[in-house]
Amino acid sequence: MSEATPERRTAVPGLTVTQDNEFFFTAAREGRLEIQRCTDCRTLRHPPGPACPACRSFAWDTVESTRRATLHSWTVVHHPQDPAFTYPLAVGLVDLEEGTRLVADISGVDHADLRRGLELEVGFAEHAHGEVLPQLRPARTTGGVR
Ligand SMILES: [Zn+2]
Repeated sequence: MSEATPERRTAVPGLTVTQDNEFFFTAAREGRLEIQRCTDCRTLRHPPGPACPACRSFAWDTVESTRRATLHSWTVVHHPQDPAFTYPLAVGLVDLEEGTRLVADISGVDHADLRRGLELEVGFAEHAHGEVLPQLRPARTTGGVR
């Protein structure tokens, strides 16, 4: 097309980075999926937050996920459409191997093949505003995930 590229407007809000979730976004930019863990009762939690929902402790550290996941539920979004994404857009809720859950868009899987228990891996993709966020992809059958 010879016309000027239209401005890429998106309704996707920018990230709100806090002292409680900064580790998550920093790790994502480095290709790692980090999960918050209570250092008092060892309960994992995601999304990150200041206090443990199990014991109310404010003490926490993180563990690195294997990024192996199985599909728990999903939806395929057709509308409304935001220029930051390609539609129809599959969004999945996965059970991470560590026992917590994560929501992310699904890439590289035919929507007709989505089913509960489907093995996926968590990769990373640059989304609107240049942020790097988790993205669900087909699980590799050999070797480690990356
Ligand atoms: Zn706890």
